[in-house]
Amino acid sequence: MYRILIRFYEELNDFLPRDRRKTDIEFTFPGRRSAKDLIESFGVPHVEVDLILVNGESVDFGYIIQNGDRISVYPVFESFPVKNVTRLRDLPLRNPRFVLDVHLRKLARRLRLLGFDADFTDGRGDSELAEISEREGRILLTRDRRLLMRRNVSRGICIRSTDPWIQTDEVLDRLRLRDECRPFTRCIECNGLIDEIPKNGSDKTIRPYVPEGVLSWCDEYFRCSGCGKIYWKGSHYEKLKSIAGKFFHGDGQ
Ligand SMILES: [Zn+2]
Repeated sequence: MYRILIRFYEELNDFLPRDRRKTDIEFTFPGRRSAKDLIESFGVPHVEVDLILVNGESVDFGYIIQNGDRISVYPVFESFPVKNVTRLRDLPLRNPRFVLDVHLRKLARRLRLLGFDADFTDGRGDSELAEISEREGRILLTRDRRLLMRRNVSRGICIRSTDPWIQTDEVLDRLRLRDECRPFTRCIECNGLIDEIPKNGSDKTIRPYVPEGVLSWCDEYFRCSGCGKIYWKGSHYEKLKSIAGKFFHGDGQ
């Protein structure tokens, strides 16, 4: 039998039952186990972990637990008082790209509104989501922690809230993206980039898609490079601008 002490820090405690939070947990188990397997047996997905210290030394997920080990597990993007540690992954990307599971449609639309690359399509299964995350280096967003325990998923966030407003806050805060928002640069419907339509000759190409009442006052239009949808700064724009403004520090367009 192996007898160890393990402790989880900060928001990793969200995954633990109340009596195991923020305390040294005494744990006994038979047979060899890697750090990844041990940590996930407590319900904590490996993608949420950034640093594992065993008896004060940093180890990777493949480390085989030894009898008597004292293990500290820290979340992603925590700041550490310790020096010379091996973080388990690189620092967050400046322009993160996401893939979202099928239950997070509203979160995907909010992230797109704020200008982030948020890949979402109905009907994707778990293995497809994990493959896209791995192949395209996208951060997998899901509320399903089992999905984040898959070996081929190396970047992901387990979304805690069921409220799309709070979910958006979770992503922005975890990756420190408040200053990276670029509202109205991406199509909410399809995730394509939005381009301004040049003023000269724009009438001809947009006329079939824009109501007569709008054409009479509006001379500034934008087109999604993905689905071709035409956007203009009408009443809907004001509503979206006020939604976007709740999330970031800076001016809208
Ligand atoms: Zn589009």
